[in-house]
Amino acid sequence: MTAANGTNVLAIGIDAAESTLVRQLIEQDEMPALKSLLADGQWLRVQSPAHIGSGAVWPTFMTGAEPTTHGVYSEWSWRPGSMSLSRYNGRHLTPFWTRPALQDIRIGVFDVPFAQPTGVSDGFEVSEWWAHDTTDAGLQAGPKEILSLVKNSPAHPLSANRFVNTTPNNQINLKELKAACVEGARLRGQLARTLIKETKPRLSLMVFPEIHHASHQMWHTMEPNHPVYNTRKLNEGRAPEPLLKDVYRAVDVQIAALVEAAGSDATVMVFALHGMRPALGFPAFLAPLLCERGFSRLANWRSQSWSKRALSLLAATKRHTPDALKKLYYRLTPTAATHKLARPTMLPAYDWANTRAFSLPTDQYGWIRVNLMGRESQGSVSLDQYEETCGELKALLLGLVNDEGQPLVQEVVRTAANAETALSNPLPDLVVHWLDAAFAWPVRIKDSKVHAEPVGKKSTGQHASEGFCIYRGAHAQDLGGVVAAKDLGRLITESL
Ligand SMILES: [Zn+2]
Repeated sequence: MTAANGTNVLAIGIDAAESTLVRQLIEQDEMPALKSLLADGQWLRVQSPAHIGSGAVWPTFMTGAEPTTHGVYSEWSWRPGSMSLSRYNGRHLTPFWTRPALQDIRIGVFDVPFAQPTGVSDGFEVSEWWAHDTTDAGLQAGPKEILSLVKNSPAHPLSANRFVNTTPNNQINLKELKAACVEGARLRGQLARTLIKETKPRLSLMVFPEIHHASHQMWHTMEPNHPVYNTRKLNEGRAPEPLLKDVYRAVDVQIAALVEAAGSDATVMVFALHGMRPALGFPAFLAPLLCERGFSRLANWRSQSWSKRALSLLAATKRHTPDALKKLYYRLTPTAATHKLARPTMLPAYDWANTRAFSLPTDQYGWIRVNLMGRESQGSVSLDQYEETCGELKALLLGLVNDEGQPLVQEVVRTAANAETALSNPLPDLVVHWLDAAFAWPVRIKDSKVHAEPVGKKSTGQHASEGFCIYRGAHAQDLGGVVAAKDLGRLITESL
């Protein structure tokens, strides 16, 4: 690999832009900047580990490694040593832009999700100016003068209001959210152009997260008649305005200005690592189902200490917690622990000795971890039982049907090929991809007493696996129209 071509590279990620919608908007002349890039360049399909979880894609891009190596699949990671979850902070990942091949090249990096600044002495690094996926680090920027430049720029409208309480059928709210995303994209483009103009990096790498944020909450405005929305009255019978399209257009306008500023001899890449599709919340019945079928057992109430008891009660009643119990919870947990416990309380207290497999908290696919001896500190499944346990789980899941006999599970992905590789596997062992019937509200599982109401019902979009890259430059000729997310960093480096 050399870094001697002397070409400037502008790489722009549009997080979670759906490739089929982008193609459609290009054909309809709604994204003229992308249309013109495509006319002079080529379309590549991007294959990413989105089938494991949306949280895996950016760390894969950043490090050039598979999720089994970098271990990130969610904002929360399972820690087998402590049998608990910990929040992602990104400190253990080494991004490709710190590699020796790029040592003498000035770089600018702006809001790559999950990436932390690496301490460059020129160029710029900004993380979480505004992010859809946040870490516990918050806004960081460097060198010093860049931090003050960023702090003195207008703030992203979504930093004051993330519109998390927006409901799919409240058009007024959705329009406000759309306006904030459109304005956020404009301010982001403006800030990026200022940073690039001030520091003149050879490589500018930036990400627009506004489409990602908007898509989770307004995908139904693009496909209002999709059957997954049938069980719920959205839009009060009226056809909604395709609000999300305006956010795509706003990002395209900013890309036009950035490409123009980069000049006609710059290599330009516009890419998404995963896409979006219709959904309605996500199924959350795996934990009780695994208890019902004897794979997991909750810890005996009496055997727990009184404070742990209060916490596990809180986990069970999280959504309807009476104020008195909330107060008790905050009294029981020191301040530092409160944040850490905010989401992991979704994990009930298990009786590990009698738990062979358990589900991990998710906002997308079903995630199941085998309680493996030699890996989990309180493991109960021996190495030679691993294969059989995975087989039993797979058979259970693929056999799940609703009352009408419709299957609920599309496929079950194994992340470790065998027990030996599972020993060092940081990921959930099984990833459950749901069929549309699993998103019904409510879903009645045949031969089960588990009450299966999906959660996150305000979310009408969920990630699809395929990404794309529009590449205008001289180094993607031999790729055969497809590139892996982990190899995009190499493509960027070779283009410089
Ligand atoms: Zn997402």
